[in-house]
Amino acid sequence: MKRQTRQGEVILSVIRSAGRPLTPLEIHQLAIQEIPRLGIATTYRHVKTLCENHQVVGVDYPGQPTRYEWADGQDKVHFACRTCDKLFALEDTTDDEPPAKVPNGFKVKGFEVMLYGTCPECK
Ligand SMILES: [Zn+2]
Repeated sequence: MKRQTRQGEVILSVIRSAGRPLTPLEIHQLAIQEIPRLGIATTYRHVKTLCENHQVVGVDYPGQPTRYEWADGQDKVHFACRTCDKLFALEDTTDDEPPAKVPNGFKVKGFEVMLYGTCPECK
């Protein structure tokens, strides 16, 4: 039981210190540096628990694997590098105006913004 707690802590700290949303595979690759025997299924299980505890949130974009980032309560905009497929979290500097006009009868409840291009490592 104690060991599981330590695994969960390592996984949370990996996600937290990454500063960008990670796929479960990326989380696993980083976490095994501290826990060499950590399995991928165990990684998934801990990530799921962290989500249920609202310590981590899933980031979903169409055609992309779900990534996970630390839930710090801040709104974030994501930047996708189209070369290495990494996703980066940026501070949300948009005002609350949607970037498009909606016709009469539609009511906007929210919107998501994603920037894309190349990251410094891929430029
Ligand atoms: Zn890149």
